[in-house]
Amino acid sequence: GLPTVAIVGRPNVGKSSLLNALAGEMISIVEPTAGVTRDRVSTFISRDDRYVELIDTGGYGIVDSDQLSDHIERQIFQAIGSATLVIFMVDIRDGLTPLDEKIARLLRKHALDVIGVANKADSAKMFPSAGEFVRLGFGEFLCVSAENNLNKSVLLDRIFERL
Ligand code: GDP
Ligand code: MG
Repeated sequence: GLPTVAIVGRPNVGKSSLLNALAGEMISIVEPTAGVTRDRVSTFISRDDRYVELIDTGGYGIVDSDQLSDHIERQIFQAIGSATLVIFMVDIRDGLTPLDEKIARLLRKHALDVIGVANKADSAKMFPSAGEFVRLGFGEFLCVSAENNLNKSVLLDRIFERL
């Protein structure tokens, strides 16, 4: 089948926004799929006649703080089961949080192939603060803005390079 890219990250970092932004660009389908993969949202993206399925693993609705760990582990579990590549998303405005570190540990534990993305970098002035995410162990994080469409095509390039 098609290669699959899973977007993983804390609630509210912008996973759904990025998926929608990329789907919009591709004039593609965003569909919540029913059944076992309840609430999963995916879209197909393409570049030069190559296609990948992009999955928002965080599509579980509102998560309160005592469900956070379960929420994250479900995302990782889904990524392990289906993903060729993981987009690990953090929020450049929040900076590095303990939950980001927890996700990083799980991604490493399961040896997933990861592209680090720092979302909400709405202006290039914010890019330098992404430096701290190197500590998560996946190299430099790529600054993007799902809302301002910043670096979207760079991200697409990175995705297709890594497949
Ligand atoms: P998810 O829980 O990771 O799927 O995050 P959402 O996509 O639902 O976004 C959470 C919030 O962050 C929403 O209020 C979005 O409007 C906001 N958001 C998402 N992307 C960006 C961005 O690039 N810049 C800014 N400033 N806000 C964003
Ligand atoms: Mg979401």
